[in-house]
Amino acid sequence: MEKIALVTGASRGIGRAIATELAHRGWAVCIGYRVRQDKAEKLAAELAGEGCRVMTCQADVSRREEVERMVRRVEQTLGPVSLLVNNAGIAGQCLFQDLTDERWHEFFSVNVDGAFYASRAVLPHMLHEHEGCIVNISSIWGQRGASCEVAYSATKAALIGLTRSLAAELAPSHIRVNCVAPGVIRTDMLNELPQSLLPQLAEQTPMGRLGTPEDIAAAVAFLASSEADFITGQVLTCDGGFIL
Ligand code: NDP
Repeated sequence: MEKIALVTGASRGIGRAIATELAHRGWAVCIGYRVRQDKAEKLAAELAGEGCRVMTCQADVSRREEVERMVRRVEQTLGPVSLLVNNAGIAGQCLFQDLTDERWHEFFSVNVDGAFYASRAVLPHMLHEHEGCIVNISSIWGQRGASCEVAYSATKAALIGLTRSLAAELAPSHIRVNCVAPGVIRTDMLNELPQSLLPQLAEQTPMGRLGTPEDIAAAVAFLASSEADFITGQVLTCDGGFIL
C-alpha cells in the first residue's frame, strides 16, 4: 500500500507538525482543516516547495458527510489512505456544573465522533489491502482526569477506549490502531488556559519544560513506521514525565 496519510486538524499546532514530519518521511499527506484555509495552504505550499506530495482539504470532522467527502477527495487526489491521524480537537475549561448540554455534545462531536467517522471512512480500503494504521491523539487528561476539564477529559478517555477496542478488532486484518497522549504542548490550544499558569506547568513537568508539537509528531511518526509493526492498541504518553 502506498504511504498516504490523512491528518485532521493539520492547519496549525500539533497536526501541522505531524503533517510536516510525515511529509519529510516520504508520506503523501492531506492537510485537514476546519476554517483556517490560509494556514493550511501556506503549509502545503511550503511542503510542496520541498518536493513533498501534499494536498489540503476542508472538513468539519463533527459532520459525517464532510468527513466522508474529505476521504473520497484524498482517495481521488493522492490515493487510498494508509495512515489516518485523528488529531483535530477542541478544548476548554469550565466548572462541571456550568457545562451546558450544547458544550458537552460539541466536545464529543468533534473529539470523538470525528475520530469515529474518519476511521470508519478509511477502513474499506485498509481492510481490502489487509494493511493500514490509525493514530488517535488523546491527552494525559484522558488518562488521569483534570479538574474543570471534565468534558474534554471524558472525550480523551473515550479515544483511548476506541483505540484499544478497535485495535483488538482490526489486528487480524493487520491494521494497527494506537494512541498518543500528549502532555502540555505549546500551541494555540494553551490560549484556553490562564497564561500565568504556563510557567507553573513547565515547573510541574519533571523534564522542566512544556512539550513542542514536534515532540508529538516524532511519536506519531514512530507509531506509523514499520519499526512499530508489532505495536497496536497502545497509548504512548508523551509528556516529559508529567503524570508519573
Ligand atoms: P490547536 O487548537 O492548535 O489546533 C486545532 C486543530 O484542529 C486546527 O487545525 C483546527 O482547524 C482543527 N479543528 C478544530 N475543530 C475542528 C473540527 N470541528 N473539524 C476539523 N478540524 C478541526 O490544537 P493542538 O494542536 O494543541 O491540538 C491538537 C490535538 O492534540 C487535539 O486533539 C488536542 O486535544 C490534543 N492535545 C493537545 C494538547 C496541548 O497541550 N496542546 C495536550 C494534549 C492533547 P482550524 O485551524 O481550521 O481551526
